[in-house]
Amino acid sequence: MATLLMLSGGADSAAALVKLLTDNRDPVFAHHIIIADSESPTRYKAENIACDRVVQYCREQYRDFVYTKSLWDFQLRYFGWNLTLCAFVGARVLRSFPEAKINRYAVGVIDEPHSLGMWKERVEEAQATFYAGLTTAGLTYRPEIVWPVAHMTKADVLNFLPPALKEMVSFCRNPFEVGQNMFRPCGKCISCNTRKNIGHI
Ligand SMILES: [Zn+2]
Repeated sequence: MATLLMLSGGADSAAALVKLLTDNRDPVFAHHIIIADSESPTRYKAENIACDRVVQYCREQYRDFVYTKSLWDFQLRYFGWNLTLCAFVGARVLRSFPEAKINRYAVGVIDEPHSLGMWKERVEEAQATFYAGLTTAGLTYRPEIVWPVAHMTKADVLNFLPPALKEMVSFCRNPFEVGQNMFRPCGKCISCNTRKNIGHI
């Protein structure tokens, strides 16, 4: 029994990681995709740095786990759903560790209004992509897609995270780069507004 979690550098997947590391002793594989796309020229940098910090903190505070990364650089107009990209890459990460028999693919999505719409279709697209990516894997079992923080709201997640982790995570969709690996939230994107609305900024 092992779980693969796609780690974004944000609060939701950080909370999912803490849950996976503390709920039981099963091996955990975390994978971060550095997603450089036309939505923001800076976000991938902030998320990449946040991910490294989250991983270091969780290894020190909880237990060790496998952490890998890949790079996606796509500058065309349709950058697509990250949920689908994660499913595509997730299947390949799972296949890269056959001896671990990773039987759970964890998605760090919380219970919030998915304001961009088509949420049901987005989940279907991600599920189909994940299982399509395993078609030729020859697995003797069918990995399960699990949602460790799907019962939590954004406020729940931020209350659940240790203060140090809450400070570390990246949330702005288009942060300002201020040098020396530091970023300042834009204060006006959907994620910044959510944080403001629940009093966590
Ligand atoms: Zn922002």
